[in-house]
Amino acid sequence: MLAAVFTEKKNIDVCDFSLRTIQKNELLIKVASCGVCGTDRHIYDGVAPSSIPIILGHEFSGIIVEKGDSNNEFMVGDKVAIDPNIYCWQCNYCKKGMVNFCKNLKALGVNINGGFAEYSIVPSSQVYRLPNDFNLNLAAFAEPLSCCVRGIENADIKPGNTVVIIGGGSIGLIMIQLVQNSGASKIILVEPCDYKRQLGLDLGADFSIDPNDHLAFKAIEDLTNSQVDIVIECVGKNTTVEDAIKIAGKGGKVVIFGLTPADQNIVINLQSVFHKELKIINSYLNPFTFKKAVDLLINSRINVKKLISRQVYLKDITDVFNNNLDVQHIVKTQIINFN
Ligand SMILES: [Zn+2]
Ligand SMILES: [Zn+2]
Repeated sequence: MLAAVFTEKKNIDVCDFSLRTIQKNELLIKVASCGVCGTDRHIYDGVAPSSIPIILGHEFSGIIVEKGDSNNEFMVGDKVAIDPNIYCWQCNYCKKGMVNFCKNLKALGVNINGGFAEYSIVPSSQVYRLPNDFNLNLAAFAEPLSCCVRGIENADIKPGNTVVIIGGGSIGLIMIQLVQNSGASKIILVEPCDYKRQLGLDLGADFSIDPNDHLAFKAIEDLTNSQVDIVIECVGKNTTVEDAIKIAGKGGKVVIFGLTPADQNIVINLQSVFHKELKIINSYLNPFTFKKAVDLLINSRINVKKLISRQVYLKDITDVFNNNLDVQHIVKTQIINFN
């Protein structure tokens, strides 16, 4: 089969790859669509760890083409979404229900071959069935959506809250919709790209602000009377995390969702955090949120269709990574085999 194999920093080989035979508890998936995530780029750039050689891609959907045993849960032909994060269920974290901290965590597309391929072998525990008529390009958003659901659960948004979202990439644009579903009364998107700001407004933000405008902070203060209950940072830079801490109001919360490079630190004014009783929250992976994400997608509660900026066939995947075509208005790139 055709596969994109990451072999070393800045190199992906699109090649003929021989799949092993599948084992009892596994399913063979014909991959339809696999989203390109910031994590894939970090691995490609050599700033995030992975096994080598490895087929990257952890945001994927497809159709079951073979079953390793006669389990009745799934049928050949089922459309499915795949949760890439595999927990051991044996370590102390798993036994306490804190599976995202699993000491033996493995992930499809990071340590086990993933979705940038024609086929992928997946443990049946990771597979979620979809309705027969469900669009598999949309299903490939289940993984990033499941991570956002974790962030939203940790944020504990209450009806009537005022929420600022920093960053209008695919994550920020999903967050806007989850925040709206949670009953927020006012949602403000902070994003430099005009196109993404407009998309944010289309998807449920009430206001959008360009952070490069020197009056950006003042505009947020005016729109909210300085009473921002929750700020969700979806960029992953120390400067935007510092902005989030400044924007949060009294009694407020900051959710640092974006993943910053390993060497970044922030400066916090401790008196301001003291006076605000500020809560700083994080979100790591997607423990027990994948089913919720699938249900949100199949019931059309989240519009992910508008986030697909570009679809590239697997054979052309190196264009996406080598040229770094991430021009401003690209939200989500998908590597596709079929629809
Ligand atoms: Zn990802
Ligand atoms: Zn574990």
